[in-house]
Amino acid sequence: MIHIKSERELDHIRESCRLVVEAFRMAEGLIAEGITTQEIDKAVEVFIKKAGGRPAFKGYRVGKAVFPASSCISVESEVVHGIPGRRKLQKGEIVSVDVGVEYEGYFGDGAKTYAVGPIDDLRARLMRVTLEALYKGIAKAVKGNRLQDISSAIQVHAESNGFSVVRELVGHGTGRKLHEDPQIPNYGKPNAGPRLRTGMVLAIEPMVNAGKEDVRTQHDEWTVVAKDGLPSAHFEHTVVVREGEAEILTKGLC
Ligand code: MG
Repeated sequence: MIHIKSERELDHIRESCRLVVEAFRMAEGLIAEGITTQEIDKAVEVFIKKAGGRPAFKGYRVGKAVFPASSCISVESEVVHGIPGRRKLQKGEIVSVDVGVEYEGYFGDGAKTYAVGPIDDLRARLMRVTLEALYKGIAKAVKGNRLQDISSAIQVHAESNGFSVVRELVGHGTGRKLHEDPQIPNYGKPNAGPRLRTGMVLAIEPMVNAGKEDVRTQHDEWTVVAKDGLPSAHFEHTVVVREGEAEILTKGLC
C-alpha cells in the first residue's frame, strides 16, 4: 500500500532530507585520493548524530545480514551497498555514496556518485547520463502519471546512451519507514503501474552500468557488483509527487 503523506509529515521528511544533503556536503569535502571509505563513513556518522539524526542504514537487516555502517560506499564496479572499509580511493575512480537519515521518526534517502580527481570519458559520461536519467524520472513523478512512466524514462535515457540499468535493485517509497511501497524499477513501460497521487514520497534512484546489466552480490552479503567489472553510477533523490512538478526534498544534493 502506498502511503499519502500529509503536509505536516512532509515537513518532517523535508527535515530528514535536509540532514541527508548536509551530510553529503560535509562528505564531499573529504573525497580525494588516499582517503579510506571507512574514514568517509565515520565522518558521515558523526555528522548525522551531532545533528540529532540516526543513520538509517546502520543495523539495517535483510534476513540475517545486518548492515554495519552509516553509509553505503561503492567504488567503481560496485553498484550499491558497498560496506565502507580500508579501501583507499584512487585517482581516476568513481565512488557512489548513499546515505539515509531518520530524524524524529521520518526518513530521507539520497545518493550521489563522485569522481576522485580527473576521470576518463567513459566514467564522466556514465555519471552525467545517470544524473540526467534521475532527472528524466523525476520529471515524470507528477500527479496523474503512472509509476512506470518514471521507470521507463530512466531506462530509455540510460539505454539510448549505450548503458544499462540494473534490474535487481529498485527505488522505493520512503518517509515513515526507510523502505515503503511502491518499488520503483529503473525499467518499465510507459502508462503502467499505480497512478501517482499528490503526497506520495518516492526515492528515485537509477543505478546505471557502463557495461551489461548483470550484477552479483559479494560474500560480504551486501556489496552488489557489476559482473563484467565495468564501472557503475548511482544518483538518488527523495521527491514528493505534486501537480505539474515534483518537489525534490533532497534539493541541493545533485
Ligand atoms: Mg534508496
